[in-house]
Amino acid sequence: MRGLRFSQWSILAKILFISCLSISVLLMIVFLYFIPNIQTRIVDEKRIGMQQVVEVAYGIVHFFHQEFTQGVLEEEQAKKLAIEALRRIRYREKEYFWINDTRPVMVMHPNFPELEGKSLNDYADPHGKRLFMAFVDVVNLKGQGFVEYHWPKPGGKEPMPKMSFVKGFTPWGWVIGSGIYMDDVATEIREMRLISMSGVTLFAVLTLLLALLVGRGITHRLSKVIVGLKEIASGHGNVDIRKRISITSIDEIGVLSNEFNELMESIARLNHFKKVIEEDDSLEDVYTRLWETFHLSLDLTQCLIYEVDVMNHTMRVVYPPDVEESLLPCNAEILVNCELCKAKKSGHEVGSMDFPRICRQFLLFDSHDHVCLPMSIGGSTVGLVQFVMKKADMHVDRQNQIDGMFKVEQYLKESLPVIESKRLLQTLRESALRDPLTGLHNRRFLQECIDGVCFGAVRRHKSLGVMMCDLDHFKQVNDTHGHGAGDAVLKALAKVIRETVRAADLVIRFGGEEFLVVLVDIDPGETERLAEKVLRNVAACEFRISNGRILRKTISIGYGEFPGDAEQFWTVLKSADVALYHSKTTGRNRATRADAEMLLAAEQSGKPGEKSESAEHQAARP
Ligand code: GH3
Ligand code: MG
Ligand code: MG
Repeated sequence: MRGLRFSQWSILAKILFISCLSISVLLMIVFLYFIPNIQTRIVDEKRIGMQQVVEVAYGIVHFFHQEFTQGVLEEEQAKKLAIEALRRIRYREKEYFWINDTRPVMVMHPNFPELEGKSLNDYADPHGKRLFMAFVDVVNLKGQGFVEYHWPKPGGKEPMPKMSFVKGFTPWGWVIGSGIYMDDVATEIREMRLISMSGVTLFAVLTLLLALLVGRGITHRLSKVIVGLKEIASGHGNVDIRKRISITSIDEIGVLSNEFNELMESIARLNHFKKVIEEDDSLEDVYTRLWETFHLSLDLTQCLIYEVDVMNHTMRVVYPPDVEESLLPCNAEILVNCELCKAKKSGHEVGSMDFPRICRQFLLFDSHDHVCLPMSIGGSTVGLVQFVMKKADMHVDRQNQIDGMFKVEQYLKESLPVIESKRLLQTLRESALRDPLTGLHNRRFLQECIDGVCFGAVRRHKSLGVMMCDLDHFKQVNDTHGHGAGDAVLKALAKVIRETVRAADLVIRFGGEEFLVVLVDIDPGETERLAEKVLRNVAACEFRISNGRILRKTISIGYGEFPGDAEQFWTVLKSADVALYHSKTTGRNRATRADAEMLLAAEQSGKPGEKSESAEHQAARP
């Protein structure tokens, strides 16, 4: 609701009001000052004009009088020539001169020659004014002057208001006069008034029209911006982020429209960005996209993205991938102790432009500046974005850098929930695929990845070594030293096996104290050597348990190879399990190579083979 106060009016109302006010002021100036002023000026000009023409007529009479005094002309001849000269003169088309003398008798009148020689003593206008007596009185009194009276116009009979200027020519006792009719002056004034009023009316109409056009132009474009902003502010799902305002001017509204369009553009870009990263499969893809946006779109030269492991207080560079520690702009110590990083520790932006050497871990402080932005969720910093810029670049356009940082923060804000949910999912998935005690992958992981592993090996014409390992007499450990000691032995055993094989090989906690090792990309027959190595390393290991005691344990292994032993990986696994049973029954601490006979025998007896048969379907035991 708009109020009565000026500040509460709409822009259109204000513009129209100001226009009306200007028009009113102009009208007042025109009617109260300009027109009256012009009116008196016209009358004054007429009077001066009259005076000047009578002076000219006087000069002519004076000239002929001089001709007489100088003896060129006789007096009567001079008078006659003067009279005829004035009789013929017309100015402003029909204005004329007349001469009467001071008795008064008419000497010359071009329109009323019948009056010439006649006494004008009693001649009066319709209002009873004895005008010729009045002329004589003025001349006698001041030598010249104005007289108002009524007199017919040339060619007319009706006496009209007239004003004349009369001047006495003393040597011949003449009164020379000429005048103007007041209605002619009135007509001139009326015309001037009409022109002024038409001008003012035209001005008023044009001003109002222009005000209306400009006002509507402003409010129309403004209302579009307002509607757009309201939509954004309301946060309803139906915001049309493709909405743009056509820019038709470069005034403030044009600038505002442009800013609005840019705002919509950046919202659209952000929205699109968010959608794309939501659909990204992995966190790595999200980081890649963030990096590309910062690096390419925002033109921020060197950018690194770190991920913080909140539990272990470590951090790692997630983008660009595979950055060598020696090439980091910071002390690599921050990777193993993330609390050394100032931005991580404070949870605030840390930039060296205002405070050089603000973070002691930044090593390139001589030549570069840095800005580190933490990615915080619920008060905890889960990642960092670091921009490193050459000092020279920084001073080129600081404002650009500040704007760039603002955009970075917006992109981070949009991507944080996505990063968080993806991290959560990753953690959940990780925990579902790993054994919490040993940290090794579990059987579910094996089920998920084994097809790909087998396919890769076949494609590369390589083999997989399949070793089923089982700790010997492990039950005794639990029984003698307790479950805690049993757990410690399992953890240590997992470590030994893990360190015995290559990093690319799969080590899986298959059951309680059973471990499956899949050796990737081996040559046929190579498994035996690795199995022997595992046996040796386990036997050599000192299992330290909580009360400071050291245990020695052995392990039994059954193994086979894929695809040498069978076409199906699971068949090889089953045969390895049978071979393990064979190792157990033939004295333990040994490795047995599975053969077809063993598999057949196991299948027939339905003994340990049953366990691995079901392994394909069971959930992980640990
Ligand atoms: P064998 O030489 O024949 O393999 O004898 P064993 O004692 O190692 O085998 P057995 O199957 O008789 O016993 C395995 C034991 O491992 C039984 C179970 O309580 C224990 N176990 C399984 N999982 C865990 C675990 O996560 N922690 C602990 N402490 N013990 C476990
Ligand atoms: Mg067992
Ligand atoms: Mg055992």
